[in-house]
Amino acid sequence: MIAKSEKNFNNTNFLSDYSTVEVLKWAARENKGKIALSSAFGPECQVLLDMIIQNSIDIQIFSLDTGRLFNETYDLISKTEKHYGTKIKIYFPNAADVEKMVSKSGINLFYENIELRKECCYIRKLKPLERALKGIECWVTGLRKEQSETRDNMKVIELDNERNLVKINPLINWTESQIWDYIKQNNVPYNSLHDRGYPSVGCACCTRRVKEGDHPRSGRWWWEKPEHRECGLHIEH
Ligand code: SF4
Repeated sequence: MIAKSEKNFNNTNFLSDYSTVEVLKWAARENKGKIALSSAFGPECQVLLDMIIQNSIDIQIFSLDTGRLFNETYDLISKTEKHYGTKIKIYFPNAADVEKMVSKSGINLFYENIELRKECCYIRKLKPLERALKGIECWVTGLRKEQSETRDNMKVIELDNERNLVKINPLINWTESQIWDYIKQNNVPYNSLHDRGYPSVGCACCTRRVKEGDHPRSGRWWWEKPEHRECGLHIEH
């Protein structure tokens, strides 16, 4: 397992010379059976999913269904499963938690204020994520620096102290055009919304189309300030 101390953590600098597939293979070897990719079926995660499946790398793949996703995202999940001949493990929010939250604060509570928006993300994403990461010691993500100002300082390997695990971000330095080149060259399935003005796709009610040239994540929680536009999955507390 990749040691979770700062000392050994610094010794992983050699990874900067590795290709993305080599990083994934190395991480799988180091964390046998205890490593997973959390995919939201965005273009970055589709690249990683393709690399993992095509190279038979021993990394589990799971996703969180908040119950508020776009139909196009469900179509992509189904298309991806057929394309690769596999089933992706999907985690759902606890039904009683959602019922309680909606009874108390309304079906579209996230537009009311940032606290209620975060409560919704907590119930629909963070709690199911905790379940999904049980027994996992290394968490693979599709994060890239370019995606948001809150991701600017992220590295290939990080410690998630709160969850006591190592986080691997193999695409952290990839550019958007590298991602799309890979997708086109390797015929990787992707969300049809990306061709219709949605560079970043989350829940349907919290994502809107962006104009040409706008920041790719500006359509996510567009009513909030840019520094608040994260759901809490990848924030260090
Ligand atoms: Fe709720 Fe919106 Fe967060 Fe989805 S993105 S979990 S709908 S607040």
